[in-house]
Amino acid sequence: MNSIKLNKQIAEELEKISEAAGYMWQKGWIESNGGNLSADITHLLQEQEIDFKNLEIIKTQLPAGAENLIVLVTGKGCRLRELAKNPEKAACIIATNSNGDGYSIIWNGRNGMKPTSELASHLKIHVSNRQQKNGKSTVLHAHPPGLIALSHYSGADADKIPQMLWRMMPEVRIYLPKGILFLSYRTPGSSELADITAESLLNCDVAVWKKHGAVASGKDIIEAFDLIDVAEKGAQIYLSCLKSGIEPEGLSDAEMKDLEKFIA
Ligand SMILES: [Zn+2]
Repeated sequence: MNSIKLNKQIAEELEKISEAAGYMWQKGWIESNGGNLSADITHLLQEQEIDFKNLEIIKTQLPAGAENLIVLVTGKGCRLRELAKNPEKAACIIATNSNGDGYSIIWNGRNGMKPTSELASHLKIHVSNRQQKNGKSTVLHAHPPGLIALSHYSGADADKIPQMLWRMMPEVRIYLPKGILFLSYRTPGSSELADITAESLLNCDVAVWKKHGAVASGKDIIEAFDLIDVAEKGAQIYLSCLKSGIEPEGLSDAEMKDLEKFIA
């Protein structure tokens, strides 16, 4: 049973999520049950009274500051490609409680739907976005193959990869002004991964989970998708050069400097 009615704004949010899911499936970023996404829609439901009395509370320790949030989130084990045609098959809406020790599913909790196992990462990023007042309300995690492939490299010059991706074409530098950060491997769903991801996104546009995937946050899901898409484009160009036996030259220091003026 649903405890809320979807209003027009939430329906629009779902439409954008469906659109982004279609793009990600076409691009091969969300195989099987890979990837997850969420949107902080607390502000879209302020007018609606939610009757918590009859709702089951799923007990879990929430990240600090994540009380009283309403979040549209993809389901654990769900296939994101299904979002493109039928969001009800892959997403639910949760309301976190005021004690910070649990949440209730207020829309689409039937058939045992539970939020993604990366819920802690999503909530921590939403809390951070609220603290920063940066206008970002969505979080996207997907498996873009080029960025993942590059994250497997751990040679002495691995730390130069983010800078090289910036130099693959001007748009990477322009659209990702804070750049791409490669984070060391951590267990999926762990609180360590959630902490380092929320912290890193303060200083980068796209965080890459080593040997796993990428995470970005945007004002809507399309913006978050675009950030990862541009980063992945840089990775694909870089890898295409290497596969073709070309050592990519990359934009020169002078060209990068010139771009800085353009960005400013
Ligand atoms: Zn993943």
